[in-house]
Amino acid sequence: MTLRRRPSCSIRSRLALGLVSVATGFALLVGPAAAAGPVPTAKPSASSSAAAAPAVSPQPDAAPVTPAALKGDAPAKDYFGAMKGPAPLAARSIGSYAKGCLAGANALPVNGPTWQVMRLSRNRNWGHPDLIRYLQDLAKAAPTLGWNGLLVGDLAQPRGGPMTSGHSSHQIGLDADLWLTPMPNRILSAEERENISAISMVKHPQDKAGADRSVDRSKWTDSHAALIRHAAKDRRVARIFVNPAIKKALCEFETGDRAWLNKVRPWWGHDYHFHVRIACPAGSTGCSDQDAPPPGDGCGADLTWWLSDEPWVPKLDPVTGKPPPVEKKRPMALSALPKDCTSVLTAR
Ligand SMILES: [Zn+2]
Repeated sequence: MTLRRRPSCSIRSRLALGLVSVATGFALLVGPAAAAGPVPTAKPSASSSAAAAPAVSPQPDAAPVTPAALKGDAPAKDYFGAMKGPAPLAARSIGSYAKGCLAGANALPVNGPTWQVMRLSRNRNWGHPDLIRYLQDLAKAAPTLGWNGLLVGDLAQPRGGPMTSGHSSHQIGLDADLWLTPMPNRILSAEERENISAISMVKHPQDKAGADRSVDRSKWTDSHAALIRHAAKDRRVARIFVNPAIKKALCEFETGDRAWLNKVRPWWGHDYHFHVRIACPAGSTGCSDQDAPPPGDGCGADLTWWLSDEPWVPKLDPVTGKPPPVEKKRPMALSALPKDCTSVLTAR
């Protein structure tokens, strides 16, 4: 693959987001966009029903999984994606953000005083108890920051692991996607939670040469900036991923202590939601933290690169005049995960 200088984006962090197999600017654009959480394809639901959404409760898994029945070369996502409830073990994040699993997960309740979980059919409102506590604390603070409440996207599957669709990370219960669309002042129906589209905060398109890669000021507000700042200042948080246009807006927003900006990292996609990643919790033996971000607020040369054409505009093949085909990645095999993830799958 072409290895250009990627100032904010070490190979290790790209691995952590699971995007290392894609080779070109075009492919990189396709990869994370596909993994970006709330995908704005569905039209808002016509339903105005305010019926309470059904709770997602732990359900017994369809068939017990015995260690002998597990095939190491089978896609791990097939096993983990079939799990309906958490592993009844002590809470533990095992492995790394894009290669691991989760024992003893808690569910974020689908309705809280100042949050609502979206896309309930995905059953991805599971996380390490520390992540659940963090999200509840953030949601509690939201009204002081100009938000009615938070709409919560994907956390993890009940036992973590690779997902059946979308993200490469979110595997160990320490990642969460939060919509940049504020929570309305009513309880959404289950149908609305499936169908409502998140709103992009940035100008489009971003993949044309010379594009204006800025936030859309008719949508982006100081309340958005204040929420991300509050989220980042929490000691539990290791990184927050946002679109580079949003990073630029945050760099301009902060006039005081800029230390928190260090944790806010530009990435493709992430214009409809921001992605919060907390550090490995105490007691999670075998949980691997990422290296700390490079020092500084990340508002200089790194960001200039992210806002240039290079990460965005497809590189056309000089012979065919077309973008090179996207390299298809083999799904991660069960044997690639930490050994303890087998116990997480089989625990009853
Ligand atoms: Zn995410």
